[in-house]
Amino acid sequence: AAKQAGGARTARFDESLRAEQSERARIAAGLRQALTDGGLFMHYQPVVETGTARITGVEALMRWRRDGELVPPGVFIPVAEQTGLIIAIGAQALRLACGQAVAWHREHGLYLTVNVSTHQLRDPGFAATVLEILADTGLPAAALVLEITESVLIDAADTPVLGTLRSRGIRIAIDDFGTGYSSLAYLHALPVDILKIDQSFIRRHEDPPRPQDVSLTRAILELARGQGLIAVAEGVETAGQADLLRELDCPLSQGYHFGRPADAETIGTLLGTRVEGVAA
Ligand code: C2E
Ligand code: MG
Ligand code: MG
Ligand code: MG
Repeated sequence: AAKQAGGARTARFDESLRAEQSERARIAAGLRQALTDGGLFMHYQPVVETGTARITGVEALMRWRRDGELVPPGVFIPVAEQTGLIIAIGAQALRLACGQAVAWHREHGLYLTVNVSTHQLRDPGFAATVLEILADTGLPAAALVLEITESVLIDAADTPVLGTLRSRGIRIAIDDFGTGYSSLAYLHALPVDILKIDQSFIRRHEDPPRPQDVSLTRAILELARGQGLIAVAEGVETAGQADLLRELDCPLSQGYHFGRPADAETIGTLLGTRVEGVAA
């Protein structure tokens, strides 16, 4: 009986593996289609000056509508990476976002930040693609920030691509800082300009904040300052968290308290206003 149960388990396992594979194939086919039919588009989330709640930048976040429903990036980005589609999709995302942000930059001085995956960085054509998109859209290099997840950055630090892009004036941000395995001693060697403190550090701040949580955030901010990096707090959801970040002199913030990701038209109406708590 034990053997039989084991066999059934194996069969169930094979079946779920097959189901997973066919779901992946379905996502890949859908993404290929979306590349040409407008199913892939960008939302933008405000990055604000913590002190004034004024928008200084926007983070572009990819959206995919499949059969009328939004598929989360956490679902389709990994498939895009596994299939190599991320090269084409990432380039399209960058082109759409730069094309949109050029007017926002001209009229409001905003900068644009775009997420980049490790597969894109490893693509030998990546730097040329970025520079070509800047030239085509007219967005100045100084208005573009590329966000790279902490763990990926460690590997990428040895590649010349980030240096090439930075020498052209593009800035690099460490995304989700604190979730990777970078040693603090290594931070000074990374070719970066901006440090985004992961949501998990910000979300833990209750009202009133606990001293041990505050000391952790203060330490990260001090670290960023000492390394000459601009800090951005991610995932700010409450007024209490925003107040605490002001007290700690965190220069920039991002999160539902200041505005959820939204389409370009909606974001356009918010530029130049204080966005504290309006969309939360
Ligand atoms: P990320 O770059 O760390 O982006 C922040 C994520 O947190 C976004 O999720 C955003 O909607 C969400 N968020 C922002 N503020 C809050 C808040 O106050 N509370 C909570 N709970 N969440 C908040 P999203 O849009 O689902 O994106 C997830 C991840 O997918 C991104 O994390 C990024 O790693 C990846 N991604 C998104 N767009 C792209 C893209 O164009 N290219 C690549 N390579 N990756 C992308
Ligand atoms: Mg990001
Ligand atoms: Mg990320
Ligand atoms: Mg992040």
